[in-house]
Amino acid sequence: MSRFWSDLASQLTPYVPGEQPKAERLVKLNTNENPYGPSPAVLEAIAGTSASELKRYPDPDSSALKAAFAEREGLTPEQVFLGNGSDEVLAHTFQALLKHDKPLLFPDISYSFYPVWSELYQVNYQPVPLRDDFTIDVDAYSAPNSGILIPNPNAPTGVLLPREDIVRLLGAHPESVVVIDEAYIDFGGESATALIAEHNNLLVIQTVSKSRSLAGMRVGAAFGQAPLIEGLVRVKDSFNSYPMDVVAQRATLASLADEAWFRQCCDKVVATRERTDKVLRDLGFAVLPSAANFIFARHPGHDAAQIFAALRERGIVVRYFSKPRIDQFLRISIGTDEEMDELFAALAEILAM
Ligand SMILES: *Cc1c(COP(=O)(O)O)cnc(C)c1O
Repeated sequence: MSRFWSDLASQLTPYVPGEQPKAERLVKLNTNENPYGPSPAVLEAIAGTSASELKRYPDPDSSALKAAFAEREGLTPEQVFLGNGSDEVLAHTFQALLKHDKPLLFPDISYSFYPVWSELYQVNYQPVPLRDDFTIDVDAYSAPNSGILIPNPNAPTGVLLPREDIVRLLGAHPESVVVIDEAYIDFGGESATALIAEHNNLLVIQTVSKSRSLAGMRVGAAFGQAPLIEGLVRVKDSFNSYPMDVVAQRATLASLADEAWFRQCCDKVVATRERTDKVLRDLGFAVLPSAANFIFARHPGHDAAQIFAALRERGIVVRYFSKPRIDQFLRISIGTDEEMDELFAALAEILAM
């Protein structure tokens, strides 16, 4: 606390990301990173950055990268917005599109950054409970609202909302901005970008952090009809004209160009997730069906906080949220098969104690 802080800075409760351990050798299954790393072409692109590129400011519109994303999604460049991680894209979305008189609705169990941005930008919000089985009931989004924000697959549950439900939600709320946060869509879902042509109120947000194994690069994208994108650009150009640095633009272009590497890594993660699901069930866990690169599970006979601590003692970090409804769950990111085998051995030992 300092007397130099503004009222706003004093009142904030900032988001706390999962631990990024410095020195220790840990099995790190806590922040949903992709264990396989980006395509070798990405490393070449980064190494190929020249001094003359670095001494200049980057292209403020990231035109080449926008065009590449647009082509991949079957959109035009005017329907693409890029930012320094999808966290930044989401932050701009709160300010540009979700702050209105009527509240913003999002699931009571979802990305814990949403309430933090609501507070930062003073966006009035109302959580909407998930069903008891942790699925999203789109008919529960019936309160008057100006915006609806849903991660799909949801985080931290991993549960996928079927495309028909998104269509129904869009149809029921033509006057609201509907934002689908697709940070994990490449691990088993179908993107809602195909619905953009028919819905002027839909914004889809994606990231290269998880499926493209580029969390360290900080690149995120939003897709929607041009007027929504223009709103985001207005906020971006009032905040930071150059959020996408030269290296990030080069690296992401190279990643988008290597579709085979991308597919192969996602397929490996999905195969390991299916194996993890089975092993955890055999160990007595109740596991939510996941379409993401993590699994959300609880053990009926063991306290989640205690399992979390016992794993940490054994050098394995997963994520634990001490929050209503989910304080008996662990969120476990999908690592390599070797890392998961270490986890399974540690869990067998802990559960036998
Ligand atoms: C990881 C994550 C993000 C943020 O991704 P970045 O692009 O790395 O900022 C956004 N939304 C959800 C639901 C996430 O889990």
